[in-house]
Amino acid sequence: MREVGDSAASGAGAGDMSAEVMVAGGVPLRRNGDGSWSEPPYPAVCANGHELGPYRVTIGVSHCRCGILHRTAQCNQCGATYYLPRPTDRCESTALDGRHG
Ligand SMILES: [Zn+2]
Ligand SMILES: [Zn+2]
Repeated sequence: MREVGDSAASGAGAGDMSAEVMVAGGVPLRRNGDGSWSEPPYPAVCANGHELGPYRVTIGVSHCRCGILHRTAQCNQCGATYYLPRPTDRCESTALDGRHG
């Protein structure tokens, strides 16, 4: 009997040489052949025009009331932060320990 994890969605595949996988901030980023990033789908540039990519963006996660972890990407140059998926009205970060008046 050999154990096969249910979450073996990554690492098991081989032969996908068309994609370049890098790790930035602990989150693997997969680079497509055209230079875009398939995961996470960050914008190519931040709101201030800085190119985003590995080592140009700080990757993180944000605990959210909606029950998922939003991935965060912060531009290293200007600090513009993106949340993926985009927060909705029901979303509220619980990691910031915000105070409600
Ligand atoms: Zn920027
Ligand atoms: Zn949320």
